[in-house]
Amino acid sequence: MKHILPALSYEVSALEPHVDVRTMTLHHNMHHAAYVTALNLALESTPESLRLALQAKTAEWLLLHLEKIPEEIRTTVHFNAGGHVNHSMLWQMMSPTGGGVPSGPLAEAINHAFGDFEKFKKQFEEAGNKVHGSGWVWLVKGPATDAVLQVLTTSGHGNPISEGYTPLLVNDVWEHAYYLKHENRRLEYLENWWTVTNWKEVAQRFERPRKVTELLSEVTRIYTDQKTFE
Ligand code: MN
Repeated sequence: MKHILPALSYEVSALEPHVDVRTMTLHHNMHHAAYVTALNLALESTPESLRLALQAKTAEWLLLHLEKIPEEIRTTVHFNAGGHVNHSMLWQMMSPTGGGVPSGPLAEAINHAFGDFEKFKKQFEEAGNKVHGSGWVWLVKGPATDAVLQVLTTSGHGNPISEGYTPLLVNDVWEHAYYLKHENRRLEYLENWWTVTNWKEVAQRFERPRKVTELLSEVTRIYTDQKTFE
């Protein structure tokens, strides 16, 4: 199995003016595509005894089983699988019909955790703005069933699934996500991003979170050396 760049569900110009067409084109067609290519190349370079088993796994599985990746390619796989997973989620976080405010159980959970929606937005913006260098800002739910929602950040292409959290919302604070339009004004980018936020998708993730076991069982191809990973 080769990892593939997922198609966008909207035109690259659909998020204008906030996320401009040049940024979207480069971000999806070049940056995200490069992570997918690099991930496939790294997996192809593994010894044959491991290659087919590793190539059969989802990018999420790779992130959750880094200890099973040969050391020579572990850092490369971590970085590029993370880039692939995070960007695949990012495209779904935005919509030409996005914006507005969350409703229903998600809105209640946000109010419970942060006081109100405005306070949540401010915390998310400030956390994203404070990330040193390149990284991501997330709204997550903890592993416990009664877990309160939290804002977290990760550096590089880190993903909170590695710590057992369920990501509900994410924004990319790498410079390539905003620099062409917003230059060095990352906070301005974060503050205006709410005009395209796809709350419908966030609510779905909150109400029907994909369990880790589901993420890991999406690949059905069976290889003879699958036992390596039992
Ligand atoms: Mn990016």
